[in-house]
Amino acid sequence: MRRHRVVVEIAHAISERFGYDEIATPIFEFTEVFKRPIGETTDIVMKEMYSFDDKGGENITLRPENTAGVVRAVIANGLTQSLPLRFFYAGPMFRYERPQKGRFRQFHQIGVELIGVKEPEGDVEVIALGAEILRALGLLDRAELQLNTLGDAASRQAYRDALVKYFSQHAGQLSEDSRARLERNPLRILDSKDEADRKINDGAPGFEQHLTPESRDFFARVRAGLDALGIKYTLNPRLVRGLDYYTHTAFEFVTTELGSQGAVLAGGRYDGLMGVMGGPETPGVGWAAGIERLALMIAEPASPPRAIALVPIGEAGEKRALVLAQELRRDGFSVDLAYSGNLQKRMRRADKIKARAAVILGEDELKRGEAAVRDLDAGTQEAVPLAALKDRLAAFRG
Ligand code: ATP
Ligand code: MG
Repeated sequence: MRRHRVVVEIAHAISERFGYDEIATPIFEFTEVFKRPIGETTDIVMKEMYSFDDKGGENITLRPENTAGVVRAVIANGLTQSLPLRFFYAGPMFRYERPQKGRFRQFHQIGVELIGVKEPEGDVEVIALGAEILRALGLLDRAELQLNTLGDAASRQAYRDALVKYFSQHAGQLSEDSRARLERNPLRILDSKDEADRKINDGAPGFEQHLTPESRDFFARVRAGLDALGIKYTLNPRLVRGLDYYTHTAFEFVTTELGSQGAVLAGGRYDGLMGVMGGPETPGVGWAAGIERLALMIAEPASPPRAIALVPIGEAGEKRALVLAQELRRDGFSVDLAYSGNLQKRMRRADKIKARAAVILGEDELKRGEAAVRDLDAGTQEAVPLAALKDRLAAFRG
């Protein structure tokens, strides 16, 4: 959880510097909210959604991702009146898939959405934001940014036709999944993990030749922006999103450190999504990143501050310790207080929890208005007047 929290806190802080406000959408929505936006032919909708009927007979789904939920919230709350919108989120997502390292059924994502900016500089902004977060986590050099363009609707239609034509000639060798996608979603065949499909994919036509001049120009501006910011990328023509409302830029930060679960942050432009979901046509671009995958890669964060152990002896000491614990905690110390055990047992506990110091409150000491303060690293002990206790303990804060 410490690593997990570091990922979220850093992402949140940097998102704020870019002007992104945190948004929290419901963990579950009506199934329809996800079905069309994510796409009926995608893995997520075909096999990975946790959907069930609630007591009122409504079919609901635990969110498998958050873009659809954010867009739904924007439409439902009339926020399209105040564009552009910049949102950051962090929270649990659910997908029914085979659990393994870096792949869980409940996992967590951070993500951002920039809604209402049609210019390619918007794509540059969200990619730069993702890169800055990775940099702050010490991961930017350990991940490769892969970049592609899907063009606009006209480009996509032209490319789609070319793909259907090409794959139809090889339909016999395609996997069953891919054959099913041939008419409905031929772009998806391009990121198939099937061996046979991959061979056929090698010879497939590229998007490049099918881009309209406008799409070509858009992509050039995205690349120019990334170049200006010194953000390195490689072009990956196989990086696709199969759905019609995905346009222009698609990108993914990929690492080789997590085996086959190498995608840590993925996103793209979705200019058609708002319209598909029943809102006014509004451009959008964003990304999501798996917190567990990022957390696996980062260094162990600094440990929390070491505790001061209070060691009361006898009834008077116990009473004093209870109040002292409260006072010291208010002053910002981390305090450990056990409610039973003799001196020896309590000192052993202080060692075990790696306390920085122990404050021994014995009857005789209290009578003198003192406590015995033991520096557990140095092994030294001294009597300290109770009134000076806080100042003495402050020295252990380092
Ligand atoms: P993959 O190809 O690994 O299945 P995906 O394309 O399904 O990823 P996206 O929907 O783009 O993933 O989600 C964005 C990010 O969320 C991924 O890059 C990954 O870091 C993380 N992620 C996705 N699914 C899981 C999961 N089941 N467990 C943990 N993290 C996940
Ligand atoms: Mg997946």
